[in-house]
Amino acid sequence: MLRPILRYGDSILSDPTRPVDAITPEIETLIDDMIETMYAAPGIGLAAPQIGVSLKIFVIDVSLGKDPASLHAMINPEFVERDGMQLEEEGCLSLPGFTATVARPKRVVLKGLTRHGEAHTLAGTGLLARALQHEMDHLHQCLFVDRLRGISRDLIIRKIKKLQKAGKW
Ligand SMILES: [Zn+2]
Repeated sequence: MLRPILRYGDSILSDPTRPVDAITPEIETLIDDMIETMYAAPGIGLAAPQIGVSLKIFVIDVSLGKDPASLHAMINPEFVERDGMQLEEEGCLSLPGFTATVARPKRVVLKGLTRHGEAHTLAGTGLLARALQHEMDHLHQCLFVDRLRGISRDLIIRKIKKLQKAGKW
């Protein structure tokens, strides 16, 4: 089932997330819905808070559905390693229409659980590393605009406020 994606400004995006205790049928359904919603958007990643659920889960597929091996659901993910630096343009399904250059480590390793509850380590460089960190940020109440400073951040926030006032956000 497609779920509405919450936008910047929605308070649920700022709520602390809880770890998943057990992979129940409800969690399985949630993950299925997240995958469907991510592909429909279309996006390369989606975190549970973006559909209003404050749990530590994200889904990711940098191939946009072209390569089944690229699809990962991560439950209770944690960073194991982070190194290097990359500067690339980044967007977010909760900030439609906006992009900005964000500095991120070049390579990351995460550990967590698969949707079947198995321990899973996921390593990524380049775009995958960027997407993994972006989704991890969502689980820690951080959107890419929160990583910007000065004018580039103010400009985006000001435009969003205008859209909100006009009822277009
Ligand atoms: Zn995002």
